Amino acid sequence: MTRHDAIIIGTGRSGPSLAGRLAAAGRNVAIIERKAFGGTCVNTGCIPTKTLVASAYAAHIARRADAFTHTSYNDFEIVAANLLDNDPRRVTDRITAYNLYVDPPLGRVGMTEAEVRASRRPALMAKMPMDKVGRASEKGETRGFMKILVDRETRLILGASLLGIGADEVIHTLIDLMYAKAPYTVLKRAMHIHPTVSELLPTMMSQLEPLQ
Ligand SMILES: Cc1cc2nc3c(=O)[nH]c(=O)nc-3n(C[C@H](O)[C@H](O)[C@H](O)COP(=O)(O)OP(=O)(O)OC[C@H]3O[C@@H](n4cnc5c(N)ncnc54)[C@H](O)[C@@H]3O)c2cc1C
Repeated sequence: MTRHDAIIIGTGRSGPSLAGRLAAAGRNVAIIERKAFGGTCVNTGCIPTKTLVASAYAAHIARRADAFTHTSYNDFEIVAANLLDNDPRRVTDRITAYNLYVDPPLGRVGMTEAEVRASRRPALMAKMPMDKVGRASEKGETRGFMKILVDRETRLILGASLLGIGADEVIHTLIDLMYAKAPYTVLKRAMHIHPTVSELLPTMMSQLEPLQ
């Protein structure tokens, strides 16, 4: 009978990566897949089906929880860090972030306005319509808005919703600032490059007002 140090069930975003790390560390690993190698993302999800129907299904998944390709990969990184690197990373360190690939795209991170209101914490909010963004006008894509919420006491960014051209990339500026636990004033003083959508983020930080 063959003996294994680890048996990994499923070959989605985490399984093969974890199997690779364990094998590289000298462990004997078996991997079991009941359907298609690679799981949902590469076979039926994100990559083959970027249609409206697929986006609607992804929206359904988004409402359910943290079910994304990037969170599954992050699961692997956390398991491998704990198993192999003596690095006590935790799933709770993760900040929820996702894009909806509708047209224009929606980029989301952290708390929504409704969640901030429900939390009753003192907060600031800035909102800018995309027709105030030069790059959006130049591209003739002025639909949408950008909304950013900040904790009034800690000055940390609580969340953002960006709906508009480039939003699926611009959101990462805010994601990184949140992981760095940097106050919004860092972004307010940053010099961004013209002409981009991102150049309006420092301007928005000057327009924060108390959330009523
Ligand atoms: C239409 C669509 C579009 C999407 N678009 C996006 C997107 O744009 N961005 C994004 O981040 N996410 C998107 N998603 C979500 C993303 O595909 C999933 O969150 C991600 O693939 C989950 O990865 P996973 O490894 O956890 O699970 P899966 O990829 O589902 O892998 C699990 C694997 O385990 C196998 N398995 C399960 N149980 C057993 C068992 N008992 N024995 C053996 N094998 C088993 C399954 O067959 C499967 O292959 C989309 C999903 C869909 C359906």
